[in-house]
Amino acid sequence: MNEHTNLPGLIEKNLPKELVALMQRVATLAARRNQTLYLVGGVVRDLLLGLPNLDLDFVVEGDAIGLAKELAQSTGGKLTTHTRFNTAKLRLDKWSLDLVTARSETYARPGALPTVKPGSLKDDLLRRDFTINAMSIRLTPERYGELVDLYGGHADLRHKLIRILHEKSFSDDATRIWRAIRYEQRLDFQIEPETLRLLKRDIPMLDTISGDRIRHELELELKEEYPEKMLHRAWILKALGKIHSSLKGDTWLQDKFLQARATASSGQELAGLYFALLTYRLTEQEVEEIIAFLRPTRQTAIILRDSSQLQTVVKELAQKGLQPAHIYSILHGYHHTALLTNYIAFSSATARNAINIKLYLEKLRFVKTALTGDDLQAMGIPPGPQMQELLVLLHNARLNGEVRSRQEEEALVREWLKE
Ligand code: ATP
Repeated sequence: MNEHTNLPGLIEKNLPKELVALMQRVATLAARRNQTLYLVGGVVRDLLLGLPNLDLDFVVEGDAIGLAKELAQSTGGKLTTHTRFNTAKLRLDKWSLDLVTARSETYARPGALPTVKPGSLKDDLLRRDFTINAMSIRLTPERYGELVDLYGGHADLRHKLIRILHEKSFSDDATRIWRAIRYEQRLDFQIEPETLRLLKRDIPMLDTISGDRIRHELELELKEEYPEKMLHRAWILKALGKIHSSLKGDTWLQDKFLQARATASSGQELAGLYFALLTYRLTEQEVEEIIAFLRPTRQTAIILRDSSQLQTVVKELAQKGLQPAHIYSILHGYHHTALLTNYIAFSSATARNAINIKLYLEKLRFVKTALTGDDLQAMGIPPGPQMQELLVLLHNARLNGEVRSRQEEEALVREWLKE
């Protein structure tokens, strides 16, 4: 990679043909409307790094919504627009495109939403977080493929540095502290020394950010390949402590995240596991404080609460000689991800409680009786609390292996009826 990097070549090589064609179509349309079009942000960074990225962000000098509407007439797709910022998102079958009107931003006070005004490409690049994210590629046919790099982003990419654009960047928007850590750890870069000094100085500015915005940043971290690296760095830099002073990004967490990746069956489950492991060592009261501040989805809140409560409950599993039905009665009703969290969190693989959680997760939770309420009714038992009780007893017998087939279940019920 050098000053003469052949960007049209990189675009051809790294982006799917259809997407390049679509991009050129947008550029031609923009030119016809006398608007200059640029590709900006993450995709430019990743093109230069040779990393995959299909999230196309465009900056238009001029009306982005008008351009997106005209484009949508020929491409179809779902168009969403925001008139306040003059931005548009066009979702097509395979891709989605973000088009924004070049704008300048000012912050009335730290952490406030910015005041925006239409501006030039230069203004638009200046409002961005880091030099490596503040480069753009001109797409307009005239001078197609020209790199616009006003803040030395290309050099910082080469030197693997995360650098803010101005001294007030973190205080204007302290979520950039989390973003700096995310890019640094994801790309294996370093936060440039002066940026690091300002980041440390502005850690208290994280208090100006709402819980919802912090949660959004945390969720982005948890979608990364190795979130424990970011949480460790955020812990050392005291950003993690701004979410809750009891959170730790230590080696325990690193070890558990590794196990979580080996255990989870889907990306969604993994994100839940990560979150619950992060809050696992907090008290129930502290977990409530985190939920009140970050306001996660109802589902995530259940996982965090269940994981926390289960810690007390699973202690019962350490007793010797527990019958499967007893294990079932202890663990039944808790969220699956919370059970997995507790399984992973138990330090020793030989701990009896861990073995019992595993037994529950792999076997007991799937155990069903062959006989249903209808079958019992056919055997002469009227519906009601007594039938309910019999079904539970039958389920327990099945869990404990006392009955193994429909015939054995029927025989057991007949025996009970005799009694
Ligand atoms: P990722 O690879 O994580 O998706 P991205 O660079 O595409 O990275 P987005 O969060 O999609 O990141 O943001 C798109 C662009 O918008 C960024 O590249 C950056 O230029 C700008 N940006 C996003 N958030 C901020 C912020 N808080 N402050 C300033 N600029 C931002």
